[in-house]
Amino acid sequence: MRISAINLAHYRLVVVGGGAGGLGAASKFARKLPKNSIAIIEPSEFHYYQPGFTFVGSGELKLTDNTRSEIDLIPSNTKWYKNAAKTLDPEQNTVLLENGESLTYDYLIVATGIRPRYDLIKGLPEALSMEGSGVCSIYIPHFAEKTNREIEAFKGGKALFTFPAGPIKCAGAPQKIMYLADEIFRNRGIRGKAELHYYTSLPKIFGIEKYAVALQKIVEEKDIRLHPRRVLKEVRLDKKTAIFDIFNEEGKPSGETEESEYSFLHVGPPCRPVPAVSDCKALVDATGFVDVDPNTLQSRRFVNVFAVGDTANTPNAKTAAAVSGQLGALEKNLKAVMAGKPLTGSYDGYASCPLLVGGKKVILAEFTPKGPLETLPINQAVPRGISYFMKRHIMQPLYWHGLVKGLWNGPTTIRKILHFGRSE
Ligand code: FAD
Repeated sequence: MRISAINLAHYRLVVVGGGAGGLGAASKFARKLPKNSIAIIEPSEFHYYQPGFTFVGSGELKLTDNTRSEIDLIPSNTKWYKNAAKTLDPEQNTVLLENGESLTYDYLIVATGIRPRYDLIKGLPEALSMEGSGVCSIYIPHFAEKTNREIEAFKGGKALFTFPAGPIKCAGAPQKIMYLADEIFRNRGIRGKAELHYYTSLPKIFGIEKYAVALQKIVEEKDIRLHPRRVLKEVRLDKKTAIFDIFNEEGKPSGETEESEYSFLHVGPPCRPVPAVSDCKALVDATGFVDVDPNTLQSRRFVNVFAVGDTANTPNAKTAAAVSGQLGALEKNLKAVMAGKPLTGSYDGYASCPLLVGGKKVILAEFTPKGPLETLPINQAVPRGISYFMKRHIMQPLYWHGLVKGLWNGPTTIRKILHFGRSE
């Protein structure tokens, strides 16, 4: 698509999206490029530490504990366009903003993340919006707060937790909130009046076998019923009923459905790229994610375009931890392209998911699509207090002071030191 609009300005580098990946990348290049040669396009006034939403749902943290003003995170020598990108035109090196202005660039980083699509489930937006409906989701700020109110209001009955088909941010979050809710119900003495059910599109509780084995044990110990290959398709608010598609062994809808009543329903939503990205057919694959080389993060079609974070079609789990792993490769490779040199940075598919399992313990899942890739020289599939301490007290400061400042490239070096002399 060709963009015709008033050209505002030209930048050496334009970063679309000022979330975890966009800020991390912009901060890195703000230290390398001359003043005002970088623009960040980001419509939101606030930046949320999304991994903290689970604690907002459980009531352990407030939303404000996970919120910063975007302006305080934008690198000082960078121009912030407080607007959304409407259209990307990589053939013309141009980005059109929602307000009709347009920017041109030498290099582009796409970092617009993915967004929960509650609207893909019939009846869900209405059920979520109604206070006291029992329906909630930690995936966006005000619903994370509502999740805590619904957990507190729960008095017993069926509590359902769902995991969608297709991409989702932090695939562990839908079960983290379940284990925390289980703990809250036990502490309030109402667990005996409650039935907990986990409905997942997957054939097992978690995609990586090592952690699936550990989590299976946990759900059995906590008397949580697992329903594999079930995908939420509809919520009937009037009857407080959830309807699920039953998936077959190929991971496709079988045509059959199943229903369950609920008193409480936590929804892990399907997540999709934003339209500004998915509508740019020259840039994306058939699923609407930016089509990049999974190692270099460079667009397969446009050498001056890179993507970082959830919106890239890399096969890793969509997490902030993955962003940290990607930023080092992105920095090397974009620098190389700018200097006309070969690309040497390579992202290995690293992601991490600290699975809160209750009792102030965490299974610290760290993995690539090939399997576990753990940093500590201990078995991280064992629920541990030290892993909880890292999740609760280390990771958030690391995010604010390391990741979004472009100073944290993931734990590879630490892993190498801790595993020195050990065979992998
Ligand atoms: P984001 O950080 O989401 O940023 C995308 C940005 O793009 C946003 O600021 C948005 O406003 C902006 N944007 C969108 N559209 C446009 C547009 N058209 N123009 C300009 N800007 C636009 N990760 C972990 O590592 N560990 C965890 O324990 C963990 N738990 C999580 C729990 C929950 C409930 C959630 C929701 C997420 C969790 N994550 C976790 C995932 C992590 O937050 C994301 O993977 C990470 O934020 C991805 O970074 P990103 O930059 O790709 O996207």
